[in-house]
Amino acid sequence: MIHVVPMGLIDVIIPEYIANLTSEKFGIMVEVAENFPIDAFRRNEARGQYLSSDMLRSLSVRKESDEDILLGVVDVDLYVDSLNFVFGEADPINRVAVISVTRLRQGFYGLQNDRRLLLERAGKEAVHEIGHVLGLSHCVDPTCVMYFSNRLADTDWKRDDFCKRCLTSLRSRGQI
Ligand SMILES: [Zn+2]
Ligand SMILES: [Zn+2]
Repeated sequence: MIHVVPMGLIDVIIPEYIANLTSEKFGIMVEVAENFPIDAFRRNEARGQYLSSDMLRSLSVRKESDEDILLGVVDVDLYVDSLNFVFGEADPINRVAVISVTRLRQGFYGLQNDRRLLLERAGKEAVHEIGHVLGLSHCVDPTCVMYFSNRLADTDWKRDDFCKRCLTSLRSRGQI
């Protein structure tokens, strides 16, 4: 079962959209879990960001079953030490992932917010990170959901679906 975990202050429509989409894509039960407060996480004040691996660690501690997948959804900016920012990060060993919607919002770039677009982007990032949890690597097909999004334009260009090759790979491992 996939548990979509809203973390901290977040518009509840986003985890709900993700739960519906991922349930459809992976054909498994998905629930929106209770909110997981993020007050205890340390914000890197110099960067104005949170370390995404901190969130992954807490999610893995919170897991009740090894079979479960936990996907955290936050509305704070995330980073890893080697990158300026990340849209999300996955830990396939512990079957947890986290995505941030902060940079998926048009308003982040000084543009007019567009809720539909925000949801579409969040959905693609969620399916992408769960794809990693299920063992997929990045895909060379720019329209495949497993394509690495370096920029938001990459996210907008790809679909929320797996290409044939990725789908075959998931099926061969009995993951879908
Ligand atoms: Zn990725
Ligand atoms: Zn692919």
